[in-house]
Amino acid sequence: MSVIEKRKTLYTAVAADEYDTRHHGAINFPLYQNSLFAFETHEAFDRAMADAGREHHIYSRGNNPTVRYLEEKISELEGGESAKCFASGMGAISAAVLSIVAQGDHIVCVNQAYGPTREFLGSYLQRFGIETTFVDGSLLENWRNAVRPNTKLFYLESPTTMMFELQDIPACTELAKQIGAATIIDGTWATPCFQQPLAMGVDLVIHSISKYLSGHSDCIGGVVIGSNRWMDRLSRTEYMLFGGVMTAHTAAAVMRGLRTLPLRMERHESSGLRVAMHLSNQPYVTRVNHPGLPFHPQYDLARRQLTGYSSLFSFESNEPPEKLKEFANRLGLFKIGVSWGGYESLITVNRVQPDQSSDEKVVVRVYVGLEDPDDLIQDIDAAWASLN
Ligand SMILES: *Cc1c(COP(=O)(O)O)cnc(C)c1O
Repeated sequence: MSVIEKRKTLYTAVAADEYDTRHHGAINFPLYQNSLFAFETHEAFDRAMADAGREHHIYSRGNNPTVRYLEEKISELEGGESAKCFASGMGAISAAVLSIVAQGDHIVCVNQAYGPTREFLGSYLQRFGIETTFVDGSLLENWRNAVRPNTKLFYLESPTTMMFELQDIPACTELAKQIGAATIIDGTWATPCFQQPLAMGVDLVIHSISKYLSGHSDCIGGVVIGSNRWMDRLSRTEYMLFGGVMTAHTAAAVMRGLRTLPLRMERHESSGLRVAMHLSNQPYVTRVNHPGLPFHPQYDLARRQLTGYSSLFSFESNEPPEKLKEFANRLGLFKIGVSWGGYESLITVNRVQPDQSSDEKVVVRVYVGLEDPDDLIQDIDAAWASLN
């Protein structure tokens, strides 16, 4: 069942599901603004403590009903057994990684992973004797060559969110299984609507909820989804001990956004492809990096492992960066900013070094929001024309 079909589960009013009887037919799941949950008898309290609060509500650092409701919805969308929500995407990423590696272990990570992720794996974890090798993730050979006897984790991000390169997810997970390593993927770009990594053998999927999942540029959050085997461990240790958990307030706001996720993603997909195609026909554009365009070098792989395309992509140009920045200044509908996934379209001009051996180049990253795509195309053409 595709996620676009699964969207019924998101639109299902709370009144129709298991929470029915306690909530007066409320359409939205109630906001449990509680740190504390108390018990009628000490025996009931003892039972809850024995279960470490997994099924029972004791204290909201462990298990808040509103957050739990969101976790169940996301887990269902992703096809996982369970999920845990964090205070940010980085909270989810750092907890997921640390639930797998220990001192002396080695990680292989895709080159173009999210900047703070690269810093966490490549620099921060060195303090604890954990080493990371970064590879051009588009070739399986590179993953194989980077493997050491102590490799415990393959960290994927597919597609990456500046150059939009893919990794062959089933091939990477198969190789990881052969060598006894776990796999994590950052699936923020595709959302559970367009990519189902757990079905391709990935152990843990993470998303920054701050982007498309919440969808309105008003929340910071993250989530880890997986099988109970991995998630139980993570819940007991990194989740409970670091304490970087999502608040009930945020969970309620995310739930409001999540209910329209499939609708929004359908619109982002069609608008994103139209704007990307339009840019690919402009004389000032030398290349568009969007995995849904037939001339993307990994288009066949994209068709195999994505069921759709989100609306963040980039283009390259031979024009000087100053001129590209002035172009950005003159756009009316595109704002200049980084955190995509909300209503507003965005643009930034970036210097990128795709890997250690290549030269730095200028890459313009474009996020297509929910405005009318005709208006966005007009905005682009008018801004560029006004420069010349
Ligand atoms: C934003 C982002 C993150 C980090 O999420 P936060 O919620 O900002 O901590 C991780 N991965 C990708 C691909 C992102 O875009």
